[in-house]
Amino acid sequence: MIRLGVYVQVPFCQTKCTYCNFHTGVFSKDLYEPYVRAVSREVTEYSRLLRENEIANVPEAVVDTAYFGGGTPSLLEPAGLAQIMDAIRASFPSQFEEVTLEADPETISPEKAAAWREAGFNRISMGVQSFNDAELRAAGRMHRRADVFEATKILRAAGFASLSFDLIAGLPHQTERSWKESVEELLQLRPEHVSIYMMEIDEGSRLGLEVLQSGARYSAKALPTDDAMAEYYEHGCRELAAAGYVHYEISNWGLPGHESRHNLKYWRREPYFGFGAGAHSFNGSQRWANAHDPAAYADVVLQGRFPVVQLEGVTREQALDEELFLGLRQLAGIDLAAIEAKYGASLHPRVQELVAQGLVECDGPRVRLAPDRLSVSNEVFVHLLE
Ligand code: SF4
Repeated sequence: MIRLGVYVQVPFCQTKCTYCNFHTGVFSKDLYEPYVRAVSREVTEYSRLLRENEIANVPEAVVDTAYFGGGTPSLLEPAGLAQIMDAIRASFPSQFEEVTLEADPETISPEKAAAWREAGFNRISMGVQSFNDAELRAAGRMHRRADVFEATKILRAAGFASLSFDLIAGLPHQTERSWKESVEELLQLRPEHVSIYMMEIDEGSRLGLEVLQSGARYSAKALPTDDAMAEYYEHGCRELAAAGYVHYEISNWGLPGHESRHNLKYWRREPYFGFGAGAHSFNGSQRWANAHDPAAYADVVLQGRFPVVQLEGVTREQALDEELFLGLRQLAGIDLAAIEAKYGASLHPRVQELVAQGLVECDGPRVRLAPDRLSVSNEVFVHLLE
C-alpha cells in the first residue's frame, strides 16, 4: 500500500527575516480566513481537480504523514488549522503517524498548544535558529532565547512528545563561542529531532542581495566566513552524535525512531500532495506546483478552479538524477546496483571518478557522500550531475 504524504503551505509571516529566500511574506490578517477556506476546498476537491487536468492520482494510497509548513503556520487560528485537518481526513483514507506543525517560539501559547493537539498534530517543528539574542535580532527574528525555553515548556506540558528544532550555521554576528552555546542550549532542551541549515547567500533574500552588492545593511559585514560556517556545522555533527542523535540526512538528525517520516518521503521520491499557495506535489511520474501569490491562489480555488501553474512529467533521465541527488542527501546513501538495474544505466565510471576525487565513498553496494564533504555537498552534486 502506498503511504502518501500531505503538505500544507501557509505562506504568512509576522515579519520577513533578512536571510529568508522563501515565497512567504507579511500579508493582511484578512487573508487568513479565505486562505483556510481555499486550502480546505482544494483538499476536498483534489480528486476532481487532478482528473480534469490529466494528472494521475495515486491509487489506494493512505495518508500517514501531514506537514504544515511555511511561512509560519502557527499564526493561523487553531480552528483554521483544525478545519484543514478535517478536510484531509474527510478526503483521504488516513492512518496518521506523524502530523507536524511548524511554529515560531513567540507564537506558542498553552491554549494554542492544547488546540493543536486536539486537531491531531503530534509534532512541532520550531524555528529556533539561534539561542543568541543579538543574532536573532540581526536576522529579523521576532523571538528571543527565553521564548524558546518557554515554548518548549508549554509544548511538553501539552503532551507533545516529538519536537524538532532548527538552527542556522552562519548567521550574522555568529562566533565560534555563540555557536557552541546555541548547540549546548539546544541539547539541554533535548528535542527529538534537529535540523542544522547552513546560511545561503543568494539574491532571493535581502541579506543575500546585500552581500552580493557588497553592502553593509542587515549586518552583512558580520557574516562568518564559509570556513567558519563549515566548522560550526562540523561541530554540530560531532556534538549531536555524542548526544545520541542519528545523522540521517545532510541537514537532519533524530533520536532513534524520530527521523522525520514526512521529509524522508521527499528524499526517497515517494508521492506527496501539496496544498496551498506555492505548494509542490509529486505522484511518482509528474510534478506540479501551485500559484505562489496567496490572494491569487485563494481566488482561483474559491472559484472551483485548479491553482496549478506548473506541471511536468518527470523524464527517465530526470528521475535518475533525482535518485542520485536526493538519495545521496541521506547518509545511508544509495544502492548503486539497484538504481542501475532500475534505470538500465551504467553509473560505475561516474561514481569511480567521484571516489577518486574523495567526494563519495563506497561501502559494498552502497555509495554515500564522503563524511568530510557533507558541508560542501552542493559542490559534490554539481560534479555528480555533470
Ligand atoms: S519565519 Fe521563516 S518563512 Fe517567515 S520570513 Fe522568517 S525564515 Fe522566512
